[in-house]
Amino acid sequence: MLSNQYVETFQPHQYAFTCKCSMCENEHVITVDAPELFRYNRGAHMQDAFPHLTPDERELLISGICGSCYDNLFGDPSE
Ligand SMILES: [Zn+2]
Repeated sequence: MLSNQYVETFQPHQYAFTCKCSMCENEHVITVDAPELFRYNRGAHMQDAFPHLTPDERELLISGICGSCYDNLFGDPSE
């Protein structure tokens, strides 16, 4: 579920979600375009709906945990 804390702006139509990491409590603002959010709400996968977001940003939107905390929790398989 996406954060319900967001600011909607127009021209361009975007939503800026304020996501607070539930572990380190750092706040991140993640901006998505309205058509992308619409796609997501219609059931598109996160990576298809928001292709320009980094994996860390998508993780924060999905799980409420930022990229560095996620890596600390589960390890980074690339290392
Ligand atoms: Zn964190």
